[in-house]
Amino acid sequence: TAATVWKEFDKSKVYMADLESGLHFLLRIELASHQTLEGKELETFKDFVTVIAKLFPGQQPVVKLLETLLEWLVSLPLDRIPYDAILDLVNNKMRISGMYLTNKLEWVGCQGSQQALRRYPCSLWTLFHTLTVQAAERPDALANTGLEENAQAVLQTMRRYIGSFFGCQECGWHFEEMAKESMDQVTTHNEAVLWLWRKHNTVNNRLAGALSEDPQFPKTQWPTPDLCPACHEEVEGLHAWNEKEVLAFLKRHYGASNISPKYTA
Ligand code: FAD
Repeated sequence: TAATVWKEFDKSKVYMADLESGLHFLLRIELASHQTLEGKELETFKDFVTVIAKLFPGQQPVVKLLETLLEWLVSLPLDRIPYDAILDLVNNKMRISGMYLTNKLEWVGCQGSQQALRRYPCSLWTLFHTLTVQAAERPDALANTGLEENAQAVLQTMRRYIGSFFGCQECGWHFEEMAKESMDQVTTHNEAVLWLWRKHNTVNNRLAGALSEDPQFPKTQWPTPDLCPACHEEVEGLHAWNEKEVLAFLKRHYGASNISPKYTA
């Protein structure tokens, strides 16, 4: 495609355009490499749709689409679902009744200085941080789904989604290593928010200077002091995180009221 125009954005905000573009990519492009969903993959996809239908802090037409997709998946008596049926539902069946997910990739906070950089993987991190914060803010949202009363619900769903569907397999292996090590120790929704933050920083650290790094967006330990001065402390001359402040910052940053609708339809 032709060069896209750079969009002004504020790095202290989260952009709905990134989240919606990510869902569009996930449902219409990434999933398309699986002709049929069955067995463990189907379970994983159902749980993923459950989590986003209940927790995605989106615009009404998108949330309605996700809820309808969930109802459809749960009510189908099939143990194999052709991807085309999912695509058909996401694309056509719904427009009539005011449900709609963008079919454009409109990256804002996740735009990259080159085609291959940032974008979808960036939006996937953004999505899962947003979902862990929503789960902490609205613990009852998953009632009657089979995922309630499980502080690891969002993280375990992410783990299984990444393992089965994420196009970057190497990323999946790395993520699984981290999950195996300590995801089981998460016992509260707040710990889940912090776990994902900590592991994302581990990934940032590993990838700093790698080819996948956008020179315009160097990998850092995040949030940087300009975004959250109170998150940073010095203990005996060494840098330390103030995790209480980090948690409060993550809840603000990824909270529904910090999500900008700019550049969405
Ligand atoms: P990203 O790391 O994608 O971050 C997106 C945004 O999240 C940042 O702009 C910032 O606003 C915010 N953010 C940054 N750090 C944190 C944090 N600690 N907590 C909360 N928010 C934060 N690429 C590889 O090359 N190898 C891998 O093994 C690999 N593993 C991955 C595993 C997963 C689960 C995912 C989703 C992606 C993985 N990637 C991997 C891709 C890589 O992590 C980046 O997503 C990609 O390089 C784009 O980087 P980015 O600059 O857009 O920032």
